[in-house]
Amino acid sequence: MVDFRIVDPAGRQHHVTIPAVEVTDELLEVGAPFDGSSIQGFKGIEESDMVMRPVLDTAYVDPFFNVPTLALQCQVYDPSGVRYDRDPRYIAEKAEQYLIDSGIANTAFFGPELEFFLFDDVRFHSSPESSFYALDSEEAVWNTGSAQNGPNLAYKVKTKGGYFPVPPTDALHDIRTDIVKELMNAGIRVERHHHEVASAGQSEINFRFDTLTKTADNTMLYKYIVRQVARRNGKVATFMPKPLFGDNGSGMHVHQSLFQDGQPLFYDEAGYGKMSDIARHYIAGILYHAPSLLAFSNPSTNSYKRLVPGFEAPVNLVFSKGNRSAAIRVPVAAISPKAARVEFRTPDATANPYLAFAAMLMAGLDGIRRKLDPTELGFGPYDKNIYDLPAEEKEKIQAVPSSLESVLAALEEDHEYLLEGGVFSKDFIRSWIHLKKTTEIEPMS
Ligand code: GLN
Ligand code: MG
Ligand code: MG
Ligand code: MG
Repeated sequence: MVDFRIVDPAGRQHHVTIPAVEVTDELLEVGAPFDGSSIQGFKGIEESDMVMRPVLDTAYVDPFFNVPTLALQCQVYDPSGVRYDRDPRYIAEKAEQYLIDSGIANTAFFGPELEFFLFDDVRFHSSPESSFYALDSEEAVWNTGSAQNGPNLAYKVKTKGGYFPVPPTDALHDIRTDIVKELMNAGIRVERHHHEVASAGQSEINFRFDTLTKTADNTMLYKYIVRQVARRNGKVATFMPKPLFGDNGSGMHVHQSLFQDGQPLFYDEAGYGKMSDIARHYIAGILYHAPSLLAFSNPSTNSYKRLVPGFEAPVNLVFSKGNRSAAIRVPVAAISPKAARVEFRTPDATANPYLAFAAMLMAGLDGIRRKLDPTELGFGPYDKNIYDLPAEEKEKIQAVPSSLESVLAALEEDHEYLLEGGVFSKDFIRSWIHLKKTTEIEPMS
């Protein structure tokens, strides 16, 4: 079988499956039809015919089906053969082209770190010994022999104690390794995996950085494989930013750097954190546009439950060397010119990676074009723990936005930087705000 896949604006993946014998050269060239009106954020019912056309070098063998299946990421076209303006992958590709046209650099590298939780899937767990949570007193007694003292949860990870004791405390090692194996089989270069800080099964698996669109493809594949292997093991994986009140949430920190003809542009031996002026302008662009940029990097109501003090999530719009309470960290451990990069820590994995990476690049490039200076704009650097600063110091620092409503309102005002080079269209920005209001905000009120 051959699977054609697209990603909708909200970041969900959809597929249609075609028997391999039916996959002719013509089908590969023209694409397979689908109904665009049934996809949130795509077309209206009156103009629903769309086509998905595969990008051949995205092919990999999907290991989760009974019948061997080749899966391909697709580009979306309208029936007249024109690329569809609301296809997130098209926006990512346009951002890369815009970078080249700008003359600033010809390559942008992106390296996201996606954290997630693995919870027991109740559909697979009906026996007491497989249930982490004592659902009733009878189960509690089973585990300890003492209803008064509660269950004996030996090796239970304490709140914020998950980073990163060996097994048996780390009970998820084998599942993570299983995920890593499938990621590698799918062609993704995995660098490491580990338990994360939160108590209830928080994990992180890191894959190698790559160019913008390629990394967005890899991010979709990563989420798919994590979810599928979790299910195979009787677990549910969630990338929800803050599933547990009082424990760490899950971020998608995004490392970024620019190269021109193979030469790194973010390194300068003499600069703060060994950063070049270009890197400083890029940082300033991201922090300056953060109030609207978060509409793409943190696009759910739950996103803002993560951005609170005390959980290694950023709460202030500042940059810093090695400081994890800042929105932008400049990693300094063993820095070499090629490894010089900025780490934007605000994003989470409810973002559509094509749109979020494209929007970050556009914000950074706007900073470079306008030579914005992060220090003049009040963004630091701050090397102290910002959570502990005295109140009068804290007052001078701009906080990260605190709600989806506020970032959507900011996006309505501030989106010119996204329209440069036709990367995002006004129509897309409008439809994005509408999508988020109707699917995230109104259902909550
Ligand atoms: N989980 C933290 C966040 O929400 C990050 C923890 C870490 O990777 N040091 O961003
Ligand atoms: Mg990490
Ligand atoms: Mg982490
Ligand atoms: Mg990180």
